[in-house]
Amino acid sequence: MSVVTDVVIVGAGPCGLFQVFELGLLGISAHVVDSLPRVGGQCAELYPDKPIYDIPALPVCGAQELIDRLMQQIHPFGAVFHLGEQVTELARQDNGRFTLKTSAGTVFDAGAVVLAAGLGSFQPRRLGVPGSEPFENVSLHYKVQSAAAFAGKRLVIFGGGDSALDWTLALAPAAASLTLVHRRGEFRAAAASVARMRALESAGKLRFVEGIADSVQSRDGLLTGVTVRRTGGERLSLEAEQVLVFFGLHPKLGPIAEWQLVIEKKALRVDTEKFQTSTPGIFAIGDINIYPGKKKLILSGFHEAALAAFAIQHHLYPDKKQFLQYTTTSPIMHRRLGVPD
Ligand SMILES: Cc1cc2nc3c(=O)[nH]c(=O)nc-3n(C[C@H](O)[C@H](O)[C@H](O)COP(=O)(O)OP(=O)(O)OC[C@H]3O[C@@H](n4cnc5c(N)ncnc54)[C@H](O)[C@@H]3O)c2cc1C
Repeated sequence: MSVVTDVVIVGAGPCGLFQVFELGLLGISAHVVDSLPRVGGQCAELYPDKPIYDIPALPVCGAQELIDRLMQQIHPFGAVFHLGEQVTELARQDNGRFTLKTSAGTVFDAGAVVLAAGLGSFQPRRLGVPGSEPFENVSLHYKVQSAAAFAGKRLVIFGGGDSALDWTLALAPAAASLTLVHRRGEFRAAAASVARMRALESAGKLRFVEGIADSVQSRDGLLTGVTVRRTGGERLSLEAEQVLVFFGLHPKLGPIAEWQLVIEKKALRVDTEKFQTSTPGIFAIGDINIYPGKKKLILSGFHEAALAAFAIQHHLYPDKKQFLQYTTTSPIMHRRLGVPD
C-alpha cells in the first residue's frame, strides 16, 4: 500500500493520539502507525486498569478510559490507523518530504513526521534458551495468528499472565497434548481463568509444570521438545511440536536509533519551541524526546503536541499566516470538530 499524506504520526500512545487532535484543529490530517495491534501505548499495554490522578480536570481516570476518551475526542478528524505495523525506515527525500516504510509493506510519502514513539516499539520478551532462535515464528511463537494451526499438535505454553492462560484454555480442547509451564504456582492472570485451567488439569485435559525453560530439542531441523528446569532443580523433558511463549512485551527503541537523529540518553533531542528533532520536518513528542527539564508525563506530551502542531503547520505551509484561535469561539474549529456554532 502506498499513501501520500500531510503527516505520519509514529506511535498511538496518549501523546500520538492527542497529536491527531491538535493537528486536526489546524485542518491537518494524519495517518497513525503503531506496532501494537491496538491504540493506547503504555496506558493500554502496561496498566489499563490503573487509575491516573494527574490529568487536568479529571480527578481520576482509568488508563484505558483515558485512551477511550482520547479516541472519542479525535474522532471528528478521521485519522487513519495502521496498527500492528512497525515503522522500520524513515528517510528524507530530495524534495524535503519523507518516506516511511512499515513492517507490513506500507509506504508513506509525508510532508512531516511526528515521532510519538514512547520508549520504543513493544517487542515480545523472548524465550532466550540456547538453540531456540532458529525455531522462532516456525515452531516457537510469541503470538497466535491462527488457532487452527495448533489443532492436533503437541503444545507447550510458557507464561503465567492473561495471554498464557487465555491461549491455554482456547487451545487445550483441540491439541494432541498441552503443557503449561510457569515459574511459580501463582499466576498474574484473572482468577477465573486460573480456576478453569486447574479444572482442566484435574480432568487430565492438560498438564501444569512449575519451572523455567532450559533448552530445546530438535531432530532433522524440526523442533521435538523442550527441557524445563523444575523449581526443585531437576530437569524434565517435554515433547513439543509447537511452543508458545507469553512473557509479556517490553519497549525497544529499535529502528528509530538508525534514523540519523541526535539521540541523548536513548531519547530524541528536541527544541522546546517546535519539538523538532535534529532533522527539520521530523518532530518528537511524549516519552521519546529529551530537552532540559523534560518530565515523562502525559500532560507534558499533550503540551508538546499543541506546540508541535503549530510548527508542523508552518513547516507544511510556510506562507500561511498563523494565529491562535479558541475552540470556544472559533467557527472554523467548530466546523472541523463537527459541532454547531
Ligand atoms: C505503570 C505506569 C504508570 C504510569 N502512570 C502515569 C501517571 O499517573 N501519570 C502520567 O502522566 N504518566 C504516567 N505514566 C507514564 C505514561 O504512561 C507515559 O508518559 C505515556 O504513556 C507516554 O505516552 P507516549 O504517547 O509518549 O508513548 P507510549 O505510551 O509509550 O506509546 C508509544 C507507542 O509508540 C509505538 N511505537 C514505538 N516505536 C514504533 C515504531 N517504530 N513503529 C510503530 N510504532 C512504534 C509503541 O508500540 C507504543 O504504542 C505511567 C507509566 C507506567 C508504566
